[in-house]
Amino acid sequence: MASDDNNNNNNNNNEAWQDRLTPEQFAICRLKGTEPPFSGQYADCQTPGVYHCVCCGAALFSSATKYDSGSGWPSFWAFIAAGNITEHIDASHGMRRVEVTCSACGSHLGHVFRDGPEPTGLRYCINSAALELKPL
Ligand SMILES: [Zn+2]
Repeated sequence: MASDDNNNNNNNNNEAWQDRLTPEQFAICRLKGTEPPFSGQYADCQTPGVYHCVCCGAALFSSATKYDSGSGWPSFWAFIAAGNITEHIDASHGMRRVEVTCSACGSHLGHVFRDGPEPTGLRYCINSAALELKPL
């Protein structure tokens, strides 16, 4: 479900997150930054496994739904389980996009676009820095 609300608590405990995360992880996950394309460690990764939230450890994406979108960011056509990811309308930067966050901790992950492959037609465009791969 996409929603317009801004009632997430991303900014309530940033000092604690700043202690736990690298500066890059903090900028992306808690301040909604974006890593440069083709820079992230998982952009071309094909290792089988489950991608977890780097902040809280929640399971977010499976390597089984990862594909090469050519965008330079890890791309998935589905999330791993309903409820683990929350969608928000993002009207920043003069665009109307759909932001995706970790439902458990509010971490910014990336955006979802409707130009992905079948069977969903979705493209979850996610920052490597927001993810931690646990290989199978
Ligand atoms: Zn999380």
